Amino acid sequence: MSLMRLAYASEATFEAKPAEKGVEPNVARILMTSRRNNGKCLLVGGLYYGDNRFFQYLEGDEKDVLETYRRIQSDSRHKNIVTLIEEPLEARTFENWSMKYVPLSSDVHRFLKKHGLSRFDPASFSSTQCEEMIQLIRSSSQDLKLVNHDEDGTFEAKSQVLSTGLRNGLIAAALFLVGALFVAGSML
Ligand code: FAD
Repeated sequence: MSLMRLAYASEATFEAKPAEKGVEPNVARILMTSRRNNGKCLLVGGLYYGDNRFFQYLEGDEKDVLETYRRIQSDSRHKNIVTLIEEPLEARTFENWSMKYVPLSSDVHRFLKKHGLSRFDPASFSSTQCEEMIQLIRSSSQDLKLVNHDEDGTFEAKSQVLSTGLRNGLIAAALFLVGALFVAGSML
């Protein structure tokens, strides 16, 4: 099995919506899918989203990286995909991250300022800048707890149904007990 790493830049095709729990909802969905899929084949890496642009870094088995990248390339949620790095890798450099997410952070603002860049446009990054971005993702501790909007909504709805049912059951049991005590009391 040979390892490889890959980085690309792209432009989001969706209009950014207000962040929910710190993450743009479309990006949250992408992350949920990525984490589910990447976790299964031990793909690791990170995703940066800002100024409507993506920068993603992936490393893992060559076959898995290339298969995933093919799916990503045909995704209509982004366009103008530019491959920045695609090369063999001797050993993994990320641990335990199926897809680390880095939101617009002060680290990245510092990075942009240092390189005299007015906005986040990863398609134009030099290889040194790519490596710096990867290092930022690697060292970032700013990962957010994500929710799957679709699945979570269903889960919440189910929990609500469950707790309403439980509450009604408890009320019915209490009424039955009061009634039984009343009948027992009147019989004495
Ligand atoms: P499915 O179960 O087919 O779909 C998963 C979810 O994504 C569903 O909720 C579906 O409705 C939604 N979805 C899929 N395509 C679209 C679309 N075009 N528009 C709106 N919603 C859509 N996938 C990975 O596996 N690993 C990654 O690291 C990864 N990174 C990504 C980075 C970016 C910037 C983008 C845009 C996508 C990325 N994806 C990644 C998603 C990838 O493009 C495929 O959508 C996904 O791999 C399909 O996997 P699936 O068949 O298991 O998902």
